[in-house]
Amino acid sequence: MADKLTKESILAALSKVQEPELHQDLVTLNMIRNLEISGDKVSFVVMLTTPACPLRGQIEKEARQAVLAVPGVKSVEMRLESDVPNDGRMRGLVNMPIRNAIAVGSGKGGVGKSTIAVNIAVALAKSGARVGLMDADIYGPNTPTMLGVEKLPPPVGNKLVPAQAYGLKMISMGLLVKPGQPLIWRGPMLNSAIRQFLGDVEWGELDYLIVDLPPGTGDAALSLAQALPLSGAIIVTLPQLVSLEDASRGLQMFRTLEVPILGVIENMSYLDLPDGTRMDIFGSGGGEQLAQATQTPFLGKIPIDQNVRIGGDSGKPVVVSHPDSPVALALTEIAQKVAAQISIAALGGKNELPINIVE
Ligand code: ADP
Repeated sequence: MADKLTKESILAALSKVQEPELHQDLVTLNMIRNLEISGDKVSFVVMLTTPACPLRGQIEKEARQAVLAVPGVKSVEMRLESDVPNDGRMRGLVNMPIRNAIAVGSGKGGVGKSTIAVNIAVALAKSGARVGLMDADIYGPNTPTMLGVEKLPPPVGNKLVPAQAYGLKMISMGLLVKPGQPLIWRGPMLNSAIRQFLGDVEWGELDYLIVDLPPGTGDAALSLAQALPLSGAIIVTLPQLVSLEDASRGLQMFRTLEVPILGVIENMSYLDLPDGTRMDIFGSGGGEQLAQATQTPFLGKIPIDQNVRIGGDSGKPVVVSHPDSPVALALTEIAQKVAAQISIAALGGKNELPINIVE
């Protein structure tokens, strides 16, 4: 007769399974929860650090194989859940239950920064994460158009209530001013407007707040990046060299503010033609070059696709309107990589995931 199964033998098997992104095993990372043994049946939960985990299939397969290899185990019942690590700084400073704030920045306008912020936010929300999008691009607040949002719900007390779209909550400077009203803010006026905008929104609990920053390294970008405790920043660039110099300045601004750079994205990288050839309209490889030169992760290339613009103009982001197109898949993969980078940053030198305090 086989020996009785023990939790120790199951945990020993699972401690051989690595979390591929965090480079530690599932047991050391405290990812195995609710382990139960009933006769020859084993059940447990794997607690991922994000519902958008890019390698969840691999983790699931390897954990199942490891447990099935323990002598005496006949069946495995496994559930994948997620608990996004909490950066903590957001809660402390602006008193909001936001686990991680991620800035999307660019050296200059027109590179697709807002498009990418919107699609990453929607892709993360589709994966099951609680996501907010704050459009703080005071010079060109166009996320309402991109998400088909026309107005905010009425405020509750003195708090602004975000609009809902495609499973996420959003707020935009563009919804706070009357159409056609110019946004000419300077110095102190800009600073107080930004602080009010940040502090007076009823977000509720969020795993990720994506912040669409104004382009460049001007006062507005700087004030915002200073006012918000950011978990990390993403830099969007085009493939050509002139754009890279701007992007590099944007990247340095975050470095100066000690905001970790989650990675570089190269937008409008190439155009796939109907005959199967690929055209590098703006040159090629610049984003990778910038990532290498600044020792930051390269998060990926996004092709040019007219459905991106059509989606932006019609209020239906391409990850919703054409979810299986190469451009939507590229954006989804980048969203997963961003989530993974947040988990890696949260883990820092610690060898166990922080337990989130739910209030
Ligand atoms: P930014 O926020 O950097 O100013 P936007 O996101 O507003 O840039 O994008 C500028 C324009 O380029 C928009 O019309 C948008 O739809 C379009 N665009 C962005 N990325 C792509 C892409 N990969 N393919 C096609 N059009 C794109």
